Amino acid sequence: MIITLQRELAESLRGEIAAFLGTLGFSTTAVTTQSASYLVCIGGREVDLRQVHRLQGVLDVHRVTDVYKLVSRKWRVEPTRIDLGDGVQIGEGSHTIIAGPCSIESEEQVQATVDFLVEHGVGAMRGGTFKPRSSPYSFRGLGLEGLKMFSSIARAKKVKVVTEVLDASQIADMMPYVDVFQVGARNSQNFSLLDELGKVDKPVLLKRGLSGTLEELLQSAEYIFARGNEKIILCERGIRTFEKAYRNTLDLNAVPYLKEKSHLPVVVDPSHGVGIRRFVPQMAMAGLMAGADGGLVEIHQRPEEALSDGAQTLSFEESSHLFRQLERLYRIRSE
Ligand code: PEP
Ligand code: MN
Repeated sequence: MIITLQRELAESLRGEIAAFLGTLGFSTTAVTTQSASYLVCIGGREVDLRQVHRLQGVLDVHRVTDVYKLVSRKWRVEPTRIDLGDGVQIGEGSHTIIAGPCSIESEEQVQATVDFLVEHGVGAMRGGTFKPRSSPYSFRGLGLEGLKMFSSIARAKKVKVVTEVLDASQIADMMPYVDVFQVGARNSQNFSLLDELGKVDKPVLLKRGLSGTLEELLQSAEYIFARGNEKIILCERGIRTFEKAYRNTLDLNAVPYLKEKSHLPVVVDPSHGVGIRRFVPQMAMAGLMAGADGGLVEIHQRPEEALSDGAQTLSFEESSHLFRQLERLYRIRSE
């Protein structure tokens, strides 16, 4: 059960409500986010919701039977749209492209990518400066200095910065330069990182774990929400299966499933999802037609020279073509 409380409710009244719920066998967790205050109630006996609704300080009450609560669509029926500013939004009613290199490599690369995105009306750029790599000897990113450079070039053109945070200790330093914190597949269940991202007032793009179930993904999103951050974007990026023909198996079933179960926006990452450049456009289009609210695509002016994930990275020419196709398909989807 989720109870929405009056925003500025006195602590004593909140305590009385929690005590009353305690007598009904519920344990309660108080959640205060950027936009509201809630009590998440777990366990308990069958309760007549009207009994709760009439308590002083209660605005609204909903029964939610899912294991995840605040991210469930059973509670919030209206889909969540996240506003990144400067006209860039993510959520139902649009298909938002987030494109850019796997890794930020140089000023020249960032400038060329930003110019390319602006020319194509793409308002958000991805690019890692702290890279999770399977080998410690691979390129690990340009770090905070690289992020500062990325951010100043992108923001000069009002392009939003989407970048991965690897560890909770990096959040404060990264904060001024980031518009969306990306949580990578390998950190999808790093609960201390999720807890800390719950305390920031910036959107979080949460990727599905390498072998993560959708329930686990939604529970991870619940961690962020329960700590106070409602701005979460779910990302399907392919899972590990027995199939070895491509890097991962892009699970497009996840898109309609997540959209049905949660009010949060869902984006698809076809680049990591299939891992083979020539198949990326098809899978990006398939993601859109599966109902995604956006796509995360790796692009580079010279993919063959990329310092990471070049094999799945589109050239500018290929990206240009894909962006046009996505626009056309979005119009068809909206008919
Ligand atoms: C990335 O987006 O470059 C990345 C490392 O993704 P993932 O966490 O999905 O592997
Ligand atoms: Mn990558």
